[in-house]
Amino acid sequence: MGHNRSIYVPIPKIFHSIYEEGPFSKCIVCTRTLSEEQTEYMIEKVFRGTEVIIEYAICDTCAEQLGSELSVESAQRMERFLAEQVNWPARMAQIINVKGDDLDQWIDTCLISGRKRSELHSYQLCARCRGDKIERTVLPLMIAGSVAEEINRLISKKTRDRLDGFVGDYLGLDPEFQNLPIDTPFLLI
Ligand SMILES: [Zn+2]
Repeated sequence: MGHNRSIYVPIPKIFHSIYEEGPFSKCIVCTRTLSEEQTEYMIEKVFRGTEVIIEYAICDTCAEQLGSELSVESAQRMERFLAEQVNWPARMAQIINVKGDDLDQWIDTCLISGRKRSELHSYQLCARCRGDKIERTVLPLMIAGSVAEEINRLISKKTRDRLDGFVGDYLGLDPEFQNLPIDTPFLLI
């Protein structure tokens, strides 16, 4: 309470798995159990309206492995984009005073465009978790679909191909959505 804002809070429903009807239980790549205390992992969910079209959790080990296969230039362009586009001090100021377990301040507006989630048709959410808790630092975050498309254009062909491979191998995406630009699991870049 007071100034003792906790970094780790229970994982709210919006970050649960639709498929599992509860918290994500396994890493999508290595199937390691995620509920154990010290397991660190990321979650990404892509929404179209009320529908979730991509969802997965990936442990740090697998994310690092995949990240190491992507192009350095893509990662640098992405880093530069975020440094230019996000007002980090304003974001930190906004979330520093949040009390309780609330996450709305993190995910109600697009990290880049500032547009409200309630007014967006497509958007994605990213979070970092440890065991059965979600971390509240820079993450979680919400990105509007249009911004995700912009980010996609920063990605090299090599990285694009590797990410497409990841989507094809693990996410079993509905073909209807497969060619849409929002599909980059951009947490991994
Ligand atoms: Zn894994």
